[in-house]
Amino acid sequence: MKKKFYITTPIYYTNQAPHIGTAYTTVAADVLARYHRKLGEEVFFLTGTDEHGEKIAQAAEKAGKTPQEFVDKIVKSFKKAWEKLNIEYSDFIRTTDERHKKGVEKFLLKLKESGKIYQDEYRGLYCIGCEKFITKKELINGKCPDHQKEPKLISETNYFFKLNDFLPQVKKLIESDKLIIEPKERKKEVLSLLKQDLGNFSISRQNVKWGIDLPFDKEQKTYVWVEALQNYITAIGYKDDSKKFNKYWPADLHLIAKDIVKFHAIFWPALLLAIGLKLPKKIFVHGYLTINGQKMSKSLGNVVDPIYLVDKYGADTIRYFLLKEISFGQDGDFSIKRLEERYNSDLANGLGNLVSRVLTLSEKAGVILSNSEESDKEFNSEIRLVQEKYNKAMEEIKFNDALESIWQLISFCDECIEKNKPWELVENNQDKAKEVLSQLLTTIREIALLLEPFMPETSEEILKQIKQNKKTEALFPRL
Ligand SMILES: [Zn+2]
Repeated sequence: MKKKFYITTPIYYTNQAPHIGTAYTTVAADVLARYHRKLGEEVFFLTGTDEHGEKIAQAAEKAGKTPQEFVDKIVKSFKKAWEKLNIEYSDFIRTTDERHKKGVEKFLLKLKESGKIYQDEYRGLYCIGCEKFITKKELINGKCPDHQKEPKLISETNYFFKLNDFLPQVKKLIESDKLIIEPKERKKEVLSLLKQDLGNFSISRQNVKWGIDLPFDKEQKTYVWVEALQNYITAIGYKDDSKKFNKYWPADLHLIAKDIVKFHAIFWPALLLAIGLKLPKKIFVHGYLTINGQKMSKSLGNVVDPIYLVDKYGADTIRYFLLKEISFGQDGDFSIKRLEERYNSDLANGLGNLVSRVLTLSEKAGVILSNSEESDKEFNSEIRLVQEKYNKAMEEIKFNDALESIWQLISFCDECIEKNKPWELVENNQDKAKEVLSQLLTTIREIALLLEPFMPETSEEILKQIKQNKKTEALFPRL
């Protein structure tokens, strides 16, 4: 049986159109999905949108639309952006989908049966921007530091989940890496969060209109976060397709940004434990992007539109830049200046130049690459070395290392050209010219194949130019 690989992005909140931050996570997930497909695994790559909550209802009202009309429009812009960026997702889940609502109902009924929820009075400060309760300690000058807004004092009857009952178990699972949290500093952060008193948490809201009813109390809506997390199971048939569900669950990898670690690494595992489902295998947390050194925010007007970027620079350039420039897992900066510099040095001068030089000389010498090319020892061992580095980097989700290994192969080719001067060989030693050029073409084919998860269009274009079809996968052995 084929190995499966179930990878998810967070579902993006539909109060605003996609920006470079959401594009970043989605591109990263797409690169991993493509890589695992190349390894012959059965990949399920899920993305989608989170469409409920008071913040959406307010944004819709401001725009003079119903919440549904409002989210429908935003969802279109997400789908368009992902198409432009060549994101090959397997499924796109919306929390307004019927399948999602039905799955959430089933989950909540199970949770009720488990005896782990109870009703209680809740009083607390609530930030609508975050869609979560916030403690006095977290406020700066009485305001939410992320939204620069004063939280609302809320007092209402809610249903609560006995989170505390599960925390010792969650802690053990994280400590023992049964639930892997990466990078390591995030794992530490989660473990120190677990030392604090997190309290039980409320899973419903009384005065919210735009959301999913609690199946056992129609006066209450499901707290948007509790419901959103369910997308990872509702999309793969939790409600009524047990065959599909059992095939893909548990997820192999949840990719998330660092602002939602607590929900994914603590609340989500606790909820799953409560109803007896397996936990995801790994949560990988990436950092924040700043724009020209500044925090990205709507109010600063520096939100970068990925559709604009793709139209101007091409999808592959954006995909390459995001994953090369920033060490995945760390914070990083996005700037057009750096993007243009990288484009010129790495893509146009590095990769583009190599391919066009070798192609021109090969045509002149009449060299065509055949699939059964015998490789020279030196080339072979360099390719093997790069493959090993690349595979290791991809397993560890170190995209910039993987890309660096490809560029190592580009440098290797450049050096070979400098050393052998094939432009002279073409004039005075045809046999040697053919030998050198076919080695270079073989290596370029390898470069194109390794590049495919990152730059699918460029990869296909190179393979076409060297007259190789896309299916030369045999050259991509697993370690
Ligand atoms: Zn806030």
